[in-house]
Amino acid sequence: MSARVLRRPLLVRTREELERELESLRGDGERRALVPTMGSLHPGHLSLMDRARELADVLVASVFVNPLQFGPGEDLERYPRELDRDFRLAGERGVDLLFAPDVEVMYPDGHPRVRMDPGPLGDRLCGRFRPGHFQGVLSVVVKLFGMIRPDVAVFGRKDFQQAVLIRRAVLDLELGVEIEVAPLVREPDGLAMSSRNRYLTDEGRRQAVGLYRGLAAARDAYRDGDVSGSVLVERVRAVASEHSGLQLQYVQVVDPVTLEARNEAGSDSVLAAAGFVDDVRLIDNLVLGAGEDDPRCALLE
Ligand code: AMP
Repeated sequence: MSARVLRRPLLVRTREELERELESLRGDGERRALVPTMGSLHPGHLSLMDRARELADVLVASVFVNPLQFGPGEDLERYPRELDRDFRLAGERGVDLLFAPDVEVMYPDGHPRVRMDPGPLGDRLCGRFRPGHFQGVLSVVVKLFGMIRPDVAVFGRKDFQQAVLIRRAVLDLELGVEIEVAPLVREPDGLAMSSRNRYLTDEGRRQAVGLYRGLAAARDAYRDGDVSGSVLVERVRAVASEHSGLQLQYVQVVDPVTLEARNEAGSDSVLAAAGFVDDVRLIDNLVLGAGEDDPRCALLE
């Protein structure tokens, strides 16, 4: 066993520690991967770490509940925080360094004055309902890239729009980081895993699966030959409405790169939806022409 395995993982909370430990982990030509998270880790996050381990020699994960990406009235205060458990799980997954800064470490002068503008992609889908959200996401991700300087960063397809925007930012701004998008990890009944699922009551949990059931029913309809975007959206709505506790916020068939609505679905089209159960916001998406295990589900090449 190498010395690194014995030391793993290290918890770092400050910039100075981060800089020092990154330096000590940097070997000749070693590739460094980053998995950014907001913590409260679940198997979806852990799958990203597994993927990152395959892609690099040094694995850095971050846990930071980023205030910039929460709007007024959203769940910043109550967002679950459980660093001890995250630290243990990250270690079991082979993370070398867990960077878990306080807000003051990330934003020592208060909120940053310069922020990333997501452009029109940030106004679509979730962006219509969460103004400023993707600006906050991109700002923190680019900052983490600057602090950690990864060769590759791994994100989940659960946050499809986020992954599209990060890929776009890397291309448009020449950030020099490979972006890997890993498949969406679901509960056995299909509900997309999320740190927010723990807010659900038992009854809410039963209702929440309606979001996936709706999307899956529309995908079945697509396979049976329905290609009209509005018919597929209606199918999602019909199935979701059988779950009385689920209020849909939006359902759309979109182009996987531009995120523009498609009247006629193709096999690469993404069916994306958001809704609320018990005040808990849920998101989910499917690639219409791909099964869950299909590599195309890992996104839009
Ligand atoms: P979060 O902690 O919610 O900000 O998520 C951190 C990363 O984990 C993001 O890249 C998410 O897309 C990813 N992620 C969260 N839930 C899942 C899931 N169920 N399956 C795959 N990736 C996920």
